[in-house]
Amino acid sequence: MGWPVSHSASPRLHGHWLQRYGIDGAYVPMAVRPEAIERALRALPLLGFVGANLTIPHKEAALSMVDEVTPAARRIGAINTVTVEGSRLFGTNTDGFGFVQNIKDAVPDFGFVGARCLVIGAGGAARAVVASLKGEEAAEILLANRTESRAEDLLSDLAAPGRAVAWSELETVLDGIDLLVNTTSLGMAGQPSLDLDLRDLPEGAVVNDLVYVPLETPLLAAAKARHRPVDGLGMLLHQARPGFEAWFGRAPEVDDALRRAVLEGGQP
Ligand code: NAP
Repeated sequence: MGWPVSHSASPRLHGHWLQRYGIDGAYVPMAVRPEAIERALRALPLLGFVGANLTIPHKEAALSMVDEVTPAARRIGAINTVTVEGSRLFGTNTDGFGFVQNIKDAVPDFGFVGARCLVIGAGGAARAVVASLKGEEAAEILLANRTESRAEDLLSDLAAPGRAVAWSELETVLDGIDLLVNTTSLGMAGQPSLDLDLRDLPEGAVVNDLVYVPLETPLLAAAKARHRPVDGLGMLLHQARPGFEAWFGRAPEVDDALRRAVLEGGQP
């Protein structure tokens, strides 16, 4: 459920898994206006749905509309996955799981424990990323956002180990960073790019962009020479796993066939 929802890659993603595992089910996009989201959620059990995903602009509002949410989702302040349990709705946030699994998949030897991280952006996605970095026991999280007060609020809301960094000082804190993550919409098709001089970022540092349209953002292109770039599509694929397993009772796999299926439908 989203508004709009036609751009979503999730129907292709879940459709691929349903077909691959021979499950007699369907995953359908539903364009739901913000004022109708509560009624739409409440209709899920009546209509025989086993669950739903939520995307922009419903993730935050839906948190208080379901019957139960995980403590992590409450801290993040948003849910993206709903499971129907009888007449009750259970909400979770799987973005942080997707983020972590994507990096583990792409760079198996990367160690989150004790890592020094720089997260750029302080919106909804950044909240999930910072919460999961804290959960993975990163040593320090530097957070830079255009609106600096939002970075400070995020770190204190999540009681995360780290500090806010002024937007103008981004390039001065690159030295010693193990993982750099862009969670802003900069670099997305139609948006300005995130222009960062990566000279002081240690060789071999992991650079992850949450933006996946285009797949290779200017930031990832710049990271190719000396760093380890990780694109954002993997996060999208991995965040879908817990929902699929809860709804259909089968743990799905993320592999090249899935990436191709999602990409071949056009850039998601
Ligand atoms: P959001 O809550 O609207 O936050 C947007 C963030 O981008 C804020 O930190 C905002 O800074 C910053 N920003 C926007 N325009 C900017 C500009 N011109 N200059 C500097 N900063 C700017 O959005 P979101 O839900 O966190 O999503 C952010 C991005 O992550 C999107 O591109 C989304 O597609 C992507 N994403 C990807 C996945 C995945 O699975 N790969 C999952 C979730 C999100 P201010 O606070 O100063 O406005």
